[in-house]
Amino acid sequence: MELSFTRYRIYRECPWKYKLIFVDGRRIPPTAKSSFGLSIHRALEDWLSSGDDSEEALSAALRAAWRRDGYADEDEESRWRLKAERALHRQREVELSRRSRVVALEKEFVWELGAHTVRGMIDRVDQGPDGAYELIDYKTGPSVPTPAQVAADAQLRFYALGARSALGFSPATLTVDCVVAGARVSAAYDPSGEAALRADAAAAADAAAGGVFLPNASFCPRCDFRRDCAYSAVK
Ligand code: SF4
Repeated sequence: MELSFTRYRIYRECPWKYKLIFVDGRRIPPTAKSSFGLSIHRALEDWLSSGDDSEEALSAALRAAWRRDGYADEDEESRWRLKAERALHRQREVELSRRSRVVALEKEFVWELGAHTVRGMIDRVDQGPDGAYELIDYKTGPSVPTPAQVAADAQLRFYALGARSALGFSPATLTVDCVVAGARVSAAYDPSGEAALRADAAAAADAAAGGVFLPNASFCPRCDFRRDCAYSAVK
C-alpha cells in the first residue's frame, strides 16, 4: 500500500476512521478553516515560485488560489479573505528579509518501506548561508508551538525521514512557520528516532493493508464522524 503522512496519522488516531475514509470512501466536508489553509499554502507556493516578489504578485497569487467552499456565507468568506491578505502581506516582509534561499517548494518524496511505498510532500526546503538545510511546514492556525513541540512534531519528523530516505539530504533544522500567527519556531533535527518511526510506519501500513480496523474511542471527541459512527463514544 501507499502510505502518506495523513494515512499514517489517521490510522494511528483511529483505525476505524481510517477505514471510513480510505476504504469506504467517506469524505470530510471542507470547512472555512481547511479552505483558508489550503488557499494560503497554494498562494505562498505560487508567489514564491513566480520569481516576482511584488505585493501585486502576492495579491494575484491569493486571488488565483482562493478556495470558496466551506464558508457559511459571503460575509464569513470576506472575513477569512481579509485575514489571509493581512497574513500574506506580513509574510512577504519576512520573506524579503530572509537570508536563506528557497531550494524546494511542495517537494515530493517517494521511498520503499518493505512491501509499501511511502509518499509525501514537504511544504518547503530552505538552505542557509552555511549550506545547512531547513525543512519548513506552514501552519495557518492561531497557535504557536514551542521549540520542543517542533522537535517532536510527527509530520515534520515523517518528512525529515522522507528527505533522508528519498531526496539525499539531511535537514539540520525543522521549522514550523505560523503564517497567520506571525511566528516562526525552529528546532535542531535529531535523527535518532528514525528507526522507531520506520518500524511504526511499517507496522501501521501492514495493519491497514491487512484490514485491521479496531476503533479507538479516545479520539471520538475530535472526530468528524462522531455523530454517526457505530463505535462513537460521544454521539
Ligand atoms: S467516532 Fe470514534 S470510533 Fe468512530 S471513527 Fe471517529 S474516532 Fe473512530
